[in-house]
Amino acid sequence: MGPSTTTPESIEELVIAGVDVVRMNFSHGSPEDHKERARLIHKFAKKHKRTVAILGDLQGPKIRIERFKDGKIFLNMGDTFILDVNLGRDEGDQNQVGVAYKKLAEDVNEGDELWLDDGRLVLAVNKVEDGKVFTTVINSWELSDNKGINRRGGGLSAEALTEKDKKDIKLAAEMQVDFLAVSFPRNAGDLDYARKLLADAGGSAAIVAKVERAESVIQPVLDDLIRASDVIMVARGDLGVEIGDANLPQMQKMLIKRSRELDKAVITATQMMESMIDNPIPTRAEVFDVANAVMDGTDAVMLSGETAAGQHPAKVVKAMAEICAEAELSKQATESTHRIGEEFLREDEAIAMGSMYIANQMRVKAVAALTESGATARWMSRISSGIPIYALTTHRRTCRRVSIYRGVYPVKIKKKSLTDLKEANRICVEHMIEEGIVKNRDLVIVTKGDIAGAGGGTNMLKIIRVGEHNVD
Ligand code: PEP
Repeated sequence: MGPSTTTPESIEELVIAGVDVVRMNFSHGSPEDHKERARLIHKFAKKHKRTVAILGDLQGPKIRIERFKDGKIFLNMGDTFILDVNLGRDEGDQNQVGVAYKKLAEDVNEGDELWLDDGRLVLAVNKVEDGKVFTTVINSWELSDNKGINRRGGGLSAEALTEKDKKDIKLAAEMQVDFLAVSFPRNAGDLDYARKLLADAGGSAAIVAKVERAESVIQPVLDDLIRASDVIMVARGDLGVEIGDANLPQMQKMLIKRSRELDKAVITATQMMESMIDNPIPTRAEVFDVANAVMDGTDAVMLSGETAAGQHPAKVVKAMAEICAEAELSKQATESTHRIGEEFLREDEAIAMGSMYIANQMRVKAVAALTESGATARWMSRISSGIPIYALTTHRRTCRRVSIYRGVYPVKIKKKSLTDLKEANRICVEHMIEEGIVKNRDLVIVTKGDIAGAGGGTNMLKIIRVGEHNVD
């Protein structure tokens, strides 16, 4: 969300176009902006009977240069340029600029490459002396106020949670966002800390780890990071700068695969439909990029500038949704060897896995899980099947949480349906009939627990033939 998605009309159009989760980027905008957008999202989601979750994205310790006295400068290849941690905030000129991150001079060494403005400008470090980083310009490009700095290969050691982030965590708790994204986490500890601060502030959002540092994709750090989070984001903008764009495709595939293996959801982000910031249709390469991520198993694809500052926010969402829906029909997206030969430790997990095995083998048309936390639907959705999974829950928060899981459709039900198993079957099946997913004589699977309303209580699976569903 951003300036292009501020008016009630533009937000309503996004909801109609098919958005499942919106990102409030705490790097931009005021708390009032975010709260007003959240209010409008909830209002239009309700009006159009859709579930739309809210993701609050912390700014994190993005390292930036300060500002220039006389506006932007142009640096030519071979020029020398100094990054000076002691220079005044607005004192930048053709030879030097200040840096807000005071430890930069301690963190970089001769021979390092610094990438500014998402890699458009590259500086080679010659020496570091008295808080000054002396560099040579590797490629000619302009430089303007507050542009970001990354080190090729990663390793800048800024703390993941800044003072601003700590304030924004309180805002996230107050707004009751469904997902909280932590920027530049170095390791699992950063995520545990964010989760604790959120809990202390009264929030219970799912934690999203933005994978965007070179040091966080090295094992065993990566697996610990994935395990400490609920959702992974392949944050291709910053990650590409740290590990090099050429390494990104294989890294993205590995991150999607590993997140699914560890039962976590995964978002693929940044520049997916970039040309649609200005153009009314995507390029072929963008169509392939979105489709490939879906075929590789991503749960979500994310838009940034396209909807925040672009000219056609609703058109982009609609175009992207169409690409996803087509890609989800592909053979690759409907087959899985996930956890074949592995032991299951929990009854509910075993029921979830067993359901998908049967669903695939019996060509069942849909699966419905009565769920408290959404965990059953998450386990099910780690198996690529192309079979829709309906998560029926009495909790609106669970509806929003599961909306990020691939192939999972939330359905809000009334509490009383849970006390009567026969009624629960009827609701599940009738909902699928209403959605046009099943017809008479089709097979569906319903999972539930015999202790209604208890998290982790799923211990039953029932195969039902539509038309014979008014039974326990
Ligand atoms: C990214 O770097 O790809 C990303 C998603 O981060 P942000 O848009 O918050 O800079």
